[in-house]
Amino acid sequence: MKRIAAAVRKKAQDIKLLLLDVDGVLTDGSIVINGRGEEIKRFHVRDGEGIKLLNRAGIRIGLISGRYSQAVTHRARELGIRIVYQRVLDKGETYRKVKSRTGLADREIAYLGDDLGDLPILCRAGLAMAVKDGWGGLRALVDYVTESGGGQGAVREVAELLLRAQSKWEEITRKYYLR
Ligand SMILES: [Mg+2]
Repeated sequence: MKRIAAAVRKKAQDIKLLLLDVDGVLTDGSIVINGRGEEIKRFHVRDGEGIKLLNRAGIRIGLISGRYSQAVTHRARELGIRIVYQRVLDKGETYRKVKSRTGLADREIAYLGDDLGDLPILCRAGLAMAVKDGWGGLRALVDYVTESGGGQGAVREVAELLLRAQSKWEEITRKYYLR
């Protein structure tokens, strides 16, 4: 894992909610549509495990997608994600809704995005992050750019970053080392 700048680690310490864009973040950005018009998405198993680790550590997760897909509904349910917004036109407006629903402040919220539509949240969230294969314009604006690509472990990487910054990684993963 790459070295995390002290300023990023410091911001990560306060995070209680990780908000994620879906296409290009939890997926590689491919939108697969079958002959019946149903959308098919490919998620990475380690991203899911990362989300479960965060859940266990008491850090909440939320999904905010501009599109709508049943696959996202199913995946969210499978991972115990209760904050799910789909078909979102204005992510800034949804971000305000999430804040009032959770009672959290900007500095307690992290966001991981990949494109222009994520800017309204990236400009407000306490810890702003972009996937490495996202739109290049985000790089200069965010606190952290992942080493892994969207749908290829970027969410897992961020989960580990948050848990390590909050000194929860060892405790949460201890059971895996026991023989
Ligand atoms: Mg996206």
